[in-house]
Order: sequence, then C-alpha cells, then structure tokens
Amino acid sequence: MKQRIRFGSAPATAAGRIFDRILSNPLAWARTLLVRSIRWQITGWYTLLLAGMMVLFSAGTYVAVYRLLIENFDESLASQANLLVNTIGFENGELMITNDSLRIGRVNNEHLIRVYRADGTLIYNDNSIEQANALAASVPLALAGERQHFAIEGREGPMRVLTVPIFDGTRTAGALQLGLSLEDVGDTMRALLKALLILAPGVLLLASGGGFFLASRALGPINRITRAAQQISAENFSRRLDLRGPNDEIGRLAHTFDAMITRLQLAFEQQRRFTADASHELRSPITAIIGQIDVAVERTRDAESYQATLLSVREQAQRLARLTNDLLYLARSDAQPKPVLKEPIDLGQLLPAIVAQLEPLAEARNQTLQIQLPPTLLTHGNEDDLIRLFLNLLDNAIRYTPIGGSIAIETGTHTTNNQPTIHVAIRDTGPGIAPEHLPHIFERFFRVDRGRTRAQGGTGLGLSIAQTIAQAHGGQIQATSTLGQGSTFTVTLPCGSIQTLC
Ligand code: ADP
Repeated sequence: MKQRIRFGSAPATAAGRIFDRILSNPLAWARTLLVRSIRWQITGWYTLLLAGMMVLFSAGTYVAVYRLLIENFDESLASQANLLVNTIGFENGELMITNDSLRIGRVNNEHLIRVYRADGTLIYNDNSIEQANALAASVPLALAGERQHFAIEGREGPMRVLTVPIFDGTRTAGALQLGLSLEDVGDTMRALLKALLILAPGVLLLASGGGFFLASRALGPINRITRAAQQISAENFSRRLDLRGPNDEIGRLAHTFDAMITRLQLAFEQQRRFTADASHELRSPITAIIGQIDVAVERTRDAESYQATLLSVREQAQRLARLTNDLLYLARSDAQPKPVLKEPIDLGQLLPAIVAQLEPLAEARNQTLQIQLPPTLLTHGNEDDLIRLFLNLLDNAIRYTPIGGSIAIETGTHTTNNQPTIHVAIRDTGPGIAPEHLPHIFERFFRVDRGRTRAQGGTGLGLSIAQTIAQAHGGQIQATSTLGQGSTFTVTLPCGSIQTLC
C-alpha cells in the first residue's frame, strides 16, 4: 500500500514530534542536552579535546613532512649541481661550456640552469623565466664562495634554486644556478593534506562514538540509582539497588545508597513507632481519668469515695505531667541537641545530694542505699542534666529492686583511649533483665513488662533520656544484668581535669 508523505502537517508519532522540536531550534536543544546529561558533556569535552589534539597533530605532521621533503629535495639539488659543475671546463681561465655538458638527469617538470662568469655576467641560461633579479641577487654570494638555497616562482609553479660557486683550483671562476620545480613536493603535500582531512574527521567521529558508548556504560548505573531514588517514598522503603559488580566508584556509591536507605528506613520506623507509642501512653491516663470521673458522677457518693477518686485522678494527672515532661525533653534534644555547658561539676558532692533526695523512697521500701566515692570527683557539663541522669537510674534501681534489697553506688577513674574517664556504677539486687531484652532497654518506650512497669509509674523514657544526656556529655551508659540477681548500670563520663585525679 502506498503511503502519502505530507509536508508541513503535525507529525503523528512522539518520535516525530521530538524530531520536529529539535529541528525547530537545534541550538537550544543541544544546550539542554549538554546541561542535562553528563554523558553528553563528557562526550562533548572529549570530542573537543580530541579535535584540538588532532588539529595540532595534523599541523605538526604536515610541517614536519614538508621540511623533510624540502631537506631531501635540497640534497638532491646539491648533488645534481655538483655533477653539473664538474662538467664545466676551463680554457685560459675562462669557463668552457658545451651545450651537451649541461644536461641533468630525468626531469619531467620545469627546471633552470644558469652559469655566470666571475664578473657576474650571465653566459648560459636555459630558462627565460622573469625572475632575473631574484636569481641574480644570490650570485655575488656564490662568487664569494657560499652556496645558497632559495625559492622562486617559476612558469609552472614554485621552484627551489641553488646557487653554487665554480672553482678553478682555488680561484672562484664563476657561479652555477640550478633550479628544479617543487611540483612533486606540492603533489605529495596535497595528497597528505587530503588524507589528513579525510582521516581526522573519521577518527574523531569513531572516537566520539566510542567515548559516548563508554560514558553511557559508566553512567548507566547512575540512571538506575536515580530511578530507584524516585521510587522511594515514606510508604515504600523496601526498594534497594542491589548492584552486583566490582567495588569501583559506582559500586561504592550504590552500596552507600543502599546503606543510607536502610538507615532511613530504620529511623522512619523508629519515628513511627515512637509516635504510636507516645499517643498510646498519653491516651491511657486520659482514658483512666475520664472513666473514674464518669463513675464518680454517675450517682451521689460519700466524701471518702470522692476523695479516693480525686487521689486516683491526681495520680494519673501526675503521670501525664511526667510523660509530657519527658516527651518535651526528648523532642527538644532531638530538634536541637543541647550544647553541653562546660561548667565544672564535682560528682563527689552531687551524687550524695541525689542519694539524700531518694533516701526516703528507699527507706520506705526497706532498702539499703550505699555510696562509695572520693571527696572530689570532677567532671564537666550541665548540672541539671546530670542530676536528671542519676535520678532516673537510681529511681529505676529503687523501683525495680524488691523490698529489703540493696542498691550500691561505686565510682572509679580509668583511662580509655588515653582519655581519663569517670565511672559511676549503680548496682541493685533487683530481678535483673533477660539477655534478649538488654539491647533494647535504652529504646524509647521499651519496657520488659509493660503493664507492671506502667503501674509502677514509669514512662518508659527514663533510660532513653539518661543515655541521651550521657552521650551529650561525651560519655555513655552500659548495662549488665543477671536474671534473678540484679543489674548494674555504669555511666562513663570524661574527666573534669587533665590530671589523672578527676
Ligand atoms: P521505665 O519508666 O519503664 O522504668 P526506663 O526507660 O527507665 O523506663 O526503663 C526501661 C525498662 O528497663 C523498664 O521498663 C524495665 O523493664 C527495665 N529496667 C530499667 N532499669 C531496671 C533495673 N534497675 N532493674 C530491672 N529492670 C530495669
């Protein structure tokens, strides 16, 4: 079936439309291509550099070949001139030339032979070209004993001429001028130029194609990375590149990208869990308060019953206050990690003060609270934060240690990585923490026994806050525990003074 080709009408296919757009403004299209694609940029620069190098190389080759040809030409000119000079005889001190003697070998192109007497008179000339002045100019030099090469314009094109002295013994008896057409050299140079003009663009085209192919191959995985990144969203963190290949720049980039997505996924999931946990924790006391008030107002009750309800409501409200307080603290330190004030703090005084604050609580549970520490133990940081850290740890120790148990605080100084550090260990004789739970206890809202610990008044954020504070002070908290025997929480903080005695 014949197809009609319509000119000037809108192209039907997408490819046609793109082609049309390119043709309408090729410069703008090329600029867009260069700006948007590294592949084209690399190819463009590579081609430009290569073109520059090829121009230099071609020009260099051209000049070198020309000089070599002229050198050879001059040598052959000189040997032919010598042969001619040897055919010239002398009679009574005068030059003797026979027409047969001044004949040179096989010459297809134009040539000239001129012979001058010692007084500069031209006595032989086989070519009547009109460059008499240029030719005569070199004769005095030859008569003075010098040989001279030069170029003139002959009837059929440029010629190379050599003027040599003719010696009769030691006396300069005259000069001979031999000129040969450079037409053969010109032909060779024209052939070379043609070859270079055909070869250079061909090589350039091939090399650019190769460059484009290599750039495409090298940058191909980057497109995959871009596509994968476009597919990743808050709802879909499952996408990975899984690029199998050598451990080169692209391989490392893909690996780093995958590791980053894994970290992002983890952080996102943690955030999601935290939000869900926080709303749940906030809702439970509010639900309890509403429930208790509903029950209380259902019917008229005695004063004692109202008092009991109010006390319970107050307890829930206190819990809410603690929770919001803790959440606020974490939200603030997440949003803007607090720069730790470098005020010197003496744990030798701070720790006994905290212990004194908690002693009534321990006494109420019939627990012994022992503290062993030197009179001064210097660190630096923020006092309020450090009080909060040790209060959280000691409060946990008292709450989780059964009635009649004991809690001990021991301190010491060590040198870790050439840095003097302070250790404060809080040991209790509580129920201990199972090994499978131990790695999670510093996570927000993590509790070994949700119901029980909540009933004991914990928010599930105490250890997480303590760890945040320790880390902000350049330290950390480590927990060790044996089920049924007790737990030890060890806080490490940097020493307050450079000396070994902190
Ligand atoms: P909570 O407010 O629930 O105490 P924390 O963050 O302070 O929250 O502690 C997290 C969990 O670690 C607790 O719920 C508890 O299960 C466990 N835990 C903390 N300290 C102790 C301890 N001294 N002995 C036993 N378990 C502990």
